[in-house]
Formats: sequence, structure tokens, C-alpha cells
Amino acid sequence: MTIEALRDDFPILRREIHGKPLIYFDNANTAQKPAVVIEAVDSFYRQHNANVARAVHTLSEEATTLYEQSRERIAGFIGAASAQDVVLTSGTTMAINLVAHSWLAPRLKAGDEVVVSQMEHHANIVPWQLLCERSGAVLRVAPIHDDGSLDLEALYGLLNERTQLLALVHVSNVLGTVNPIAAIAEHTRTRGIALLVDGSQAVPHMPVNVSELGCDFYVFTGHKLFGPTGTGALWARRELLEAMPPWIGGGEMIESVSFDGTVYAPPPRRFEAGTPNIAGFVGLAAAIAYLQAQDLAALAAHEQALGARLRAGLAAVPGLRFIGSARDRVAVASFVIDGAHATDLAVLLDLEGVAVRSGQHCAHPLMQRFGVNATLRASLAFYNTADEVDRFLVALAKARGMLG
Ligand SMILES: *Cc1c(COP(=O)(O)O)cnc(C)c1O
Repeated sequence: MTIEALRDDFPILRREIHGKPLIYFDNANTAQKPAVVIEAVDSFYRQHNANVARAVHTLSEEATTLYEQSRERIAGFIGAASAQDVVLTSGTTMAINLVAHSWLAPRLKAGDEVVVSQMEHHANIVPWQLLCERSGAVLRVAPIHDDGSLDLEALYGLLNERTQLLALVHVSNVLGTVNPIAAIAEHTRTRGIALLVDGSQAVPHMPVNVSELGCDFYVFTGHKLFGPTGTGALWARRELLEAMPPWIGGGEMIESVSFDGTVYAPPPRRFEAGTPNIAGFVGLAAAIAYLQAQDLAALAAHEQALGARLRAGLAAVPGLRFIGSARDRVAVASFVIDGAHATDLAVLLDLEGVAVRSGQHCAHPLMQRFGVNATLRASLAFYNTADEVDRFLVALAKARGMLG
């Protein structure tokens, strides 16, 4: 396997931006899609398009089979014991809101507590905040160390008999920090506290096995995993799913409906009201199959080497401060540079063909923790190269120079 050969699988990587070859370093925002994903979506609409689980005609059966095969593919990829433990959602945001409304809301009482960390994405803050406001429960925040690692001692100190849920990111989208989920899950399990893990930034970079992690809920989004937008999943322990009432009502999620009462379908269908993103899940299954055909350990090692090269280059930039330098991390570098605003740098970098994210990365509390109002973030994927890292560093030096 060579990275150049893999790059050929991603049509967009051949693009030029402002006459320069694209350097796509915004993978934590969304990842690019290999041709097999684009073709799977295309061929679904050309050959198999129909609604799922409604009609007995051949196309509907094919669409239903493809949709359920996607669920199986996802379940296998994350080590779920059964595909029936996987709810297909429009993404991480919807998956977290489902747990908030269906699992947490019915049990949350005034005085209860929900714990998150300072490094959460807004998607793993706001749904809990809304519920707490409504019920009189308290949202508590576990602090992080200056290097961007979680303060485990402080976290464990926050948990008590009032804690209903700990909601924690697996890998931070800003810091790149990898949290020690298995150890944390052991702790929450012995204390009888439910643990939800936001795996949005983990699944694109490392093998994840929900059965081995020991958490109660695991969520991720498909578009950061080289699949289509509008796809994602919630995995939950079976007994939790069984006990969860429906949240969104409609078609597809019922056994029978009458005005005297409606009988709901068992999970996961109970949570999939309405017509789902069928083509999107066909594409996500293709993305996962593509990944499973690669040597993932080699790709992870390549990414780690690129991340180290990137950080070494950035460390030599005068006035640059990293936001996040924990030991256990993925190839994401967030930083600020004295005298150069992140957004100005990002605009100048775009002129050099470089796509990076500037801003607050849907993590305002984290920005406040580090006393910055924006960072520049370069986030890598396996299809990035050492040459791109080097050209990025040159482009950054040029942009920095232009800002005086
Ligand atoms: C992107 C992201 C989300 C939100 O994912 P959506 O696809 O927008 O629902 C949540 N958490 C983390 C850590 C993310 O990186």
C-alpha cells in the first residue's frame, strides 16, 4: 500500500484551489469521500431506489436489504454484539439528542447531576444543558489540565450518587486528546453511573470496540468517517435501548396504530421514525468496507508520523502556541500565533490551496478555558502526505509574513 495509490481513490484530492493543488487539512470538520462511496450512492439511486420496509416489491426489498446491511456493517465495525443494538441517526447531534430525550429526560429530577468535560463539542453540552434547565438538574463540568488532557482525579471527584450520566468525548475535535475511555468506563460502572461517549473523532483514526470499551452509549457521525453527510449511529447496551420510550413519532417506528393506543416497534426501529437517509447509509457502508480493506494499523502509524512532523514544524514558528499537547493524541494541531488572527491566516492559506479551520470549533467553553477567542486547526487524515505537511508549513510562514 502506498499513500499515493490511496489518494487516487479520492477524486476531490486532484482539485486545484486558486491554481494550487488542494491541501485538505480540515478532516475534523468533515472528511473527503472515496469514489466507492460516491459510486455506491449513485448506483443506489440508479438501480435500487425505493423506500424501506414498506412495500413488498423487489426494489423496496433491495433498498431494505441494503439499509439493513449498512446497519450490520456499522455494528461489525464498532464491535457491537448485535446490529439490533445500533440505531441509525442523521449524525452525532441527533444521536445525543435521542439519548437526552428518550433515556435521560424521563429519569432526570431536580437536584440530579449530569457531568460533561471542558473539552466537549457543543453537541455534547447543549442537549444536556437544555434538559437540566427544564428539570432543575445541575450540569457539572470536569476540568482539563493545561496540556489538554482530562483531569481524571477531578472528574472522579465530581461523580456522586446524584450523577445520572457522564457524557464524554472519546477524542477532542480541537485538542486531539484521546481520553482513556476504558478506564473511565470501569470507574463509572462500579459506581452505577451511565457513560455516553462521543466517538465522532475517534472512529476515523483508531479501532473502536464498544463491547470492550465498557461504556453504555457510543455515538458517531458518518461524514467524518469518509461517508455521506446526514448519517450516523447510536450504539447502546441492549437493556437501555429496550427501556427507552420513543422520542420522535411517525411512520416506520410502530407495530400498529389506533386512536386507542399505538404499539411501538422494538429497538432500533422504534427510534427511526420517518424515511431515513437510505442512500446515505448505503454510502456509509461502502466507506466502512473501504476502510476495512485497508491496513488500518499502517494508516494509523502514517497519520501519527504526519502529526509528529506537523507539530515539529509548527514548534519552530516564532510566537506559536499549541492549544492541546497531551501525550495520547491524534494528528490534530490547534494553535494560535502572536499578532496573527486565526481567520486572517486561514484566508491567506486558502489562497495557497490549503483548507484549514479557524474559529471556535463548536467548543466555546474550551476556548474560554485556554483564554483564546479562536484557534487555527490543521486536522489530518490517512490520505495526507509528508509533502503536504511541508508545503503547509511553507504556506503558513508566507501567510504569517504577510500579516506583518
Ligand atoms: C463533528 C462533531 C460532532 C457533531 O457531529 P454532527 O455530524 O455535526 O452531528 C460532535 N462531537 C464531536 C467531537 C465532533 O467532532
